[in-house]
Amino acid sequence: MDFQSPTTLKEKKALLKKLETAYNTCFDCGDKYGVYSVGCSSVYESTCDVCGETKRITETRDFAYFVTGIRKLKLEIQNETKIP
Ligand SMILES: [Zn+2]
Repeated sequence: MDFQSPTTLKEKKALLKKLETAYNTCFDCGDKYGVYSVGCSSVYESTCDVCGETKRITETRDFAYFVTGIRKLKLEIQNETKIP
C-alpha cells in the first residue's frame, strides 16, 4: 500500500498535472511514475517538482518524462469519469 498514491479523482488530476509540468524529479518519484532510461543529466540536490522534498534530483527526461505514469493516470481518470 502506497501512502502517496492518489485516491480521489481530484488528487489524480492534480498529480497528472504535476507530472506533465514537472521539470525535475527525485529518484523516488521517477521510479514510481516513470521508467528510468540511461541517465545523462546531472544529478544535484534540489526540490523535487513532484513531491516537493529536497532530495537528489535529475531531469524528468531521465525517466522518459513520466509517460508510463501519465498514461496510467489518464486511464484511471477516464474510467472514473465515464458515465455508465
Ligand atoms: Zn519526489
